Amino acid sequence: MTELKLYNTLTRTKEVFEPIDPANVRMYVCGPTVYDFAHIGNARPVIVFDVLFRLLRHLAKQGVWDGGKGETKVTYVRNITDVEDKINARALRDFPGLPLNEAIANVTEKTANQFFADAAALGCLKPTAQPRATQHIDGMIAMIQTLIKKGHAYVATGKEGREVLFDVASMPDYGGLSKRNLEDQQAGARVAVEAHKKNPADFVLWKESSGDEPGWDANFDGTQIYGRPGWHIECSVMAKANLGEVFDIHGGGLDLIFPHHENEIAQSRCAHGTDVMAKVWMHNGFLQVEGRKMSKSEGNFVTIHDLLETEKFGDRKWPGEVLRLAMLMTHYREPIDFSVKRLEEAERLLDGWRREIVKRGIRFAPADRAAAESERVCAKVVSALANDLNMSEVIAALHWHADGNESYNGPRLFGSLQFLGLVTFDSMLAWMEEESAAEEQTAPPELETRLEERLALLAEKNFAEADAIRDELAAQGVQLMDYKDAETGERRTKWEVKR
Ligand code: AMP
Ligand code: ZN
Repeated sequence: MTELKLYNTLTRTKEVFEPIDPANVRMYVCGPTVYDFAHIGNARPVIVFDVLFRLLRHLAKQGVWDGGKGETKVTYVRNITDVEDKINARALRDFPGLPLNEAIANVTEKTANQFFADAAALGCLKPTAQPRATQHIDGMIAMIQTLIKKGHAYVATGKEGREVLFDVASMPDYGGLSKRNLEDQQAGARVAVEAHKKNPADFVLWKESSGDEPGWDANFDGTQIYGRPGWHIECSVMAKANLGEVFDIHGGGLDLIFPHHENEIAQSRCAHGTDVMAKVWMHNGFLQVEGRKMSKSEGNFVTIHDLLETEKFGDRKWPGEVLRLAMLMTHYREPIDFSVKRLEEAERLLDGWRREIVKRGIRFAPADRAAAESERVCAKVVSALANDLNMSEVIAALHWHADGNESYNGPRLFGSLQFLGLVTFDSMLAWMEEESAAEEQTAPPELETRLEERLALLAEKNFAEADAIRDELAAQGVQLMDYKDAETGERRTKWEVKR
């Protein structure tokens, strides 16, 4: 039986994973704050924990945790943060004429739907539940009241009104995840000590709202505060509501270790009187773009939507599967430099595998769907994933099948790529159609000349003149799409007449 090993940030070691309840493996991952398009860094935890979800479901079906029965459930919760000050600011900016609640709903609805579409395009399965903070305000108020009752929180008045604060000194082992102790934090506190806090590390559970901020009525220790929750309490409450007081795996990017996850742990453990919030804490490494930290001021801020639907990055659109593989080519705990070169490499790899699948006679006519979709994942891929998601071993196993001569190599290559969310029956069909269209396409001589001229200009990095040709052809209704020849690596151009 496969043994699953996961690196646990809490213990800083790789541990054998055993679910608390063998009937139900429970995982929570911090999701996006929905005020704008998700960027490609946000896509990393979405993809990484989707792979883990797929692996957990597979091992559950194999009966790894319930003595071979295969009845273990896997519950994967990824929240939507739809109460946050950035959302208010965006609502006020974009919908100045609307009542605040309506303006906020417009921002969060649109952004959440875009995020769901992005996640699906990246080959991610829907989590079991995607709770929203606004659906859990009562639970947050109740948890804060419990924390006050148990002596872990207090009401105070700061510069921006009344607040309920978590009293970090009331928790002797506060800081266990990030390995910070309170003395370090006090000595190194960058923010001036806010006079109303007992300790500079005390953090907000609830804060008073003014006129242009959303709010809910709540009573804390006899004090009525029309206000809104802090960010950390949202996750503690959504995790408890969907997974219980203690669950198996909690994930997110490593920027969340402190303060977000540390404070989630403090709230949940103190409210429930438990030793841990989750048994295993997993964190993905950070992503940079073209060698630099992604930021709007650097001009290298890339959204998932930009990559999928526009030509802003590398002058072309990128298919979701290519983005997914580009993300998975690096181990999830390592940093990634996201670049055009990396995407091209991922596409070359994926094209090579897809070509092998077709060459080896896997069929993609409509009648073949059921057979193709039931192809099994390679056992080597599963055991590599079970070793803390070791993707370089996974890729080696995929190459091994692509290079092998046995009759099972083709089916297992397809089955494994399908398992990893890197191909589907439909994406194979679409890819095959594109490939044959690219091969068959011959342009009228005049167009051919212009295309060649443009490629020569691009090779000289004369983008202005190359773009002028693109625009001239677009004006005639001919749309261009650049791609790399999978074998030679040369840039080539497809064209299409738009009516
Ligand atoms: P946020 O909406 O900023 O809270 O981020 C949502 C998720 O994306 C969290 O799990 C973050 O840790 C993760 N994340 C944000 N930026 C990056 C990045 N550049 N690289 C990897 N993960 C990131
Ligand atoms: Zn969270």
